[in-house]
This record gives sequence, C-alpha cells and structure tokens, in this order.
Amino acid sequence: MVLSTHAIVGGAIASLFPSDPILAAAAGFASHFAIDAIPHWDYPLRSISVGKGADNRRLKLTRTVMIDLICIGLDACAGLALAIWLFATPASAWVVSLGAIAAMLPDPLQFLHSVHPREPLVSLQRFHGWIHSKRKLAWRLGVGSQIAFAVAVSAAAGAFR
Ligand SMILES: [Zn+2]
Repeated sequence: MVLSTHAIVGGAIASLFPSDPILAAAAGFASHFAIDAIPHWDYPLRSISVGKGADNRRLKLTRTVMIDLICIGLDACAGLALAIWLFATPASAWVVSLGAIAAMLPDPLQFLHSVHPREPLVSLQRFHGWIHSKRKLAWRLGVGSQIAFAVAVSAAAGAFR
C-alpha cells in the first residue's frame, strides 16, 4: 500500500489507545503487514527498488533517485498530516503521529535491508515479502480502493472511540 494509507490506518488504530504509546506503536507497526496482505496498487519508483532481491548498495543520488525520494517524502508527509487531521486531539497528537510513523516504518526498513542485508532485517524482509499480496491491482482500481479503504478505517475508528 502507499505510505499515506499505512499512516492513516496506523493513526486510526493509535487513536484508540491515546494513553498507551507502546501499544499504539506496536499495533501501528503490525497493521502495515496486515493491510499489505490485501491486493493493492503501489506507485512505481523510477530507480529505488524494494522487495525481493532488491539491492540499492550502488545507488547514486541522481535526478531519478531525487524524484523517487520526493514522491516518497510527499506520500509520507501527506499521510502523517492526514492522520493527525483526522484522528488527533491536542492531547493525543503525538501518540497518533507515533502510530502513523510506526505503520509506515516497515517500508523504509525494506530499503534499509536493500543496503544492509543483515539480521533482523533479513527475517523481517522475508516476512514482509511473504505477507505482501502478490496480486497487483490496476492503478485506477488501486487508487480508488485505497481511498475507500482509508475512509472505511477512519469511520470504523471514529465509531470505536
Ligand atoms: Zn509494505
């Protein structure tokens, strides 16, 4: 899933445990894998590779790498901002942010694995690859379904709070 979707789901879950940051972070992190298992769409990256067999050890800071980093950065910032806007109160803002960031974290850890393939990243990468849906949706359906999914999760979190 795109990082914004992960952040919204992580923020929504964290908002259910506003006084328990450890649980919020752990649940956010776990939610990443749970929703990656749903068939989805991911935007293509031009030069950075993640996933099975990815090796970024020779990556240089070129124009296409910069474009990838900007896309990823915008995606992550938009996700964090949306999570705070949708779920945070002044008192819970930091726990909601923590949940959102923890929910996005497995993807930067995939990158870290691609430049530093050591344990525990190797096992985490194996698990991430195993649980990640092998079915790729076309982008139209993929974008629409992630928006619908984020809205549904937001509504469910609102109902539970
Ligand atoms: Zn992932």
